[in-house]
Amino acid sequence: MEQQVFGGENHSRRPARPLMNAMLRGFLGRCPHCGEGKLFASFVKTVDRCGHCGEEMHHHRADDLPAYLVVVIVGHIVVGAFMSVEATSTLSTWQHLAIWIPLTIGSALALLRPIKGAVVGLQWALYMHGFSGEDDLIEAHPEA
Ligand SMILES: [Zn+2]
Repeated sequence: MEQQVFGGENHSRRPARPLMNAMLRGFLGRCPHCGEGKLFASFVKTVDRCGHCGEEMHHHRADDLPAYLVVVIVGHIVVGAFMSVEATSTLSTWQHLAIWIPLTIGSALALLRPIKGAVVGLQWALYMHGFSGEDDLIEAHPEA
């Protein structure tokens, strides 16, 4: 199967980095380059560089995207499940709160790290920010 090549990689002479593979490795908390080293130093803080292959990880600019994606995903699942249960049962408000609040908090915490890893993998695969070996425009002109 041919690897997906995005952006200008056909003419940039940079080797293609398989997007889905990198995102899956990041999702699993592994280095998007080698798949062996750990991506995270703590809950959502990435390592500066991979302990296995040495790939620099501090370039990523995941920022708030993982949190936004978690809100979208968890919101759709919890609201859909809540509305289904509400329409088909006679649970009290307290029973609903006892179900949906822990489920919301637990699933958000469970998804935040894997989704951040996938975002870092995406940025690495697409040579975004410093992953291209060149400084970001923002880094080159900090006053901007
Ligand atoms: Zn690595």
